[in-house]
Amino acid sequence: MTLYADRTLPVGERLKPPAGTSTGDTLYMRELPAQVDVAVIGAGVIGLSIAWRLAGRGLAVAVFDRGEAGAGTSLAATGMLAAAAEHEPGSEKFLALALESQRQWPEFCAQLEGESRLSIDHRNDGTLLVALGHDEVERLRFRHEQQRRAGLETRWLTGVEVRDAEPGLRASVAAGILCPDDHQVDPRRLVAALRVALLSRGGLLFQGTPVTSLEMSGGRVCGLLTSAGRCRAKTIVAASGAWSTDGLLPPALDIPMRPLKGQALALKTGRQTGSPRHVIWTEQIHLAPKSDGRLIVGSTMEDAGFNPAITAGGVLALLEGVHRALPSSEEMEIEAVWSGFRPTTDDDAPIIGKSGISGLLLATGHHRNGILLAPITATAIEQLITTGEMTGAAASFGLERFQRNAASTARAAGA
Ligand SMILES: Cc1cc2nc3c(=O)[nH]c(=O)nc-3n(C[C@H](O)[C@H](O)[C@H](O)COP(=O)(O)OP(=O)(O)OC[C@H]3O[C@@H](n4cnc5c(N)ncnc54)[C@H](O)[C@@H]3O)c2cc1C
Repeated sequence: MTLYADRTLPVGERLKPPAGTSTGDTLYMRELPAQVDVAVIGAGVIGLSIAWRLAGRGLAVAVFDRGEAGAGTSLAATGMLAAAAEHEPGSEKFLALALESQRQWPEFCAQLEGESRLSIDHRNDGTLLVALGHDEVERLRFRHEQQRRAGLETRWLTGVEVRDAEPGLRASVAAGILCPDDHQVDPRRLVAALRVALLSRGGLLFQGTPVTSLEMSGGRVCGLLTSAGRCRAKTIVAASGAWSTDGLLPPALDIPMRPLKGQALALKTGRQTGSPRHVIWTEQIHLAPKSDGRLIVGSTMEDAGFNPAITAGGVLALLEGVHRALPSSEEMEIEAVWSGFRPTTDDDAPIIGKSGISGLLLATGHHRNGILLAPITATAIEQLITTGEMTGAAASFGLERFQRNAASTARAAGA
């Protein structure tokens, strides 16, 4: 068993890209441009998606990452596009954002695969939420009721119907919900494809190039300083994920965010063990089968700061969860174990839009849904940069929602 717990290793060693997606040294640009239209801080799924989209509008774009593309959090993701399965009561605005992004995914995928000539393993078998015993059925029914009230077209399944759909599940499975529009991609392939597609549109990608400070002039951000030199930019997009509060951005922004650690593992399936077809959620874990035979088992939710340690408790919870759902997992080899840090805001929703400082935009805080929300985030930032305005579902997710809350709390306290 190989434990990939050391986050200081280059990503290629930690989570190898699948055969055929390695894109070689051509991606490593050496010369910094003196000036670009847009500089993006962070080459995760969010920064790369935005940059790719902007490069398609003919803008000069450069992306800077202190490590390798995706190695922040994006490569740690499972890749679920789970707008319905994720729905919680009271989060109707977020649901609208998630559904809009889910609707954009097929075109995003087709364009990306077409331009990069790489598959991102977009699988549209849907997601099954299952009750593994009778005590879980009522909670699942409640969830289905919430989904129905929110207008989601999900389907209640009996235990027999769930077993028909997924014969490998334990016989005790008592009920399920099919979310037919909750699909998935492979984040490793997604990052690889975004890198290639960005470069093919003339965008620049500087890996191993930390941004060390922002440059201001006349009250606006006008460029950035990196380990490789200075780059002026008309607009800077901060897409630095869980690291958006580590001192680079002006403290006055007061971004309410913390890293929320997740441990996950990959099992190897084969002819003998079989593999599920759907993404499967139990109360404990989710399972995501990939076309290369890996079965991703995720993921813990831990408030542990930036401690990347793989813990016995974390791995135990994942293994126990998969064993409870899928008896054949006993025979599956553990291929890799890893951890990542979800960029999590105080309301678990992303921050997309103006920062309040001229020239600086924010695209961060995507918590458990950065893969799902990549298309709509790219669309919103593209709209903001090209028209000066942001409309649609993303318009409710600016930083100002927290500042308004803080102001009203202060007013209430003073009253
Ligand atoms: C275990 C786990 C499972 C998940 N599963 C899913 C899922 O199934 N579906 C889903 O939608 N989401 C999922 N997520 C969430 C998803 O991974 C994140 O929301 C998403 O990756 C955030 O992308 P990002 O581009 O904002 O951040 P990142 O991928 O972290 O990218 C930010 C980048 O900024 C760089 N950076 C930071 N500071 C600087 C600096 N000063 N200079 C230069 N570069 C800098 C970092 O190096 C990093 O590469 C999961 C997360 C975890 C941990």
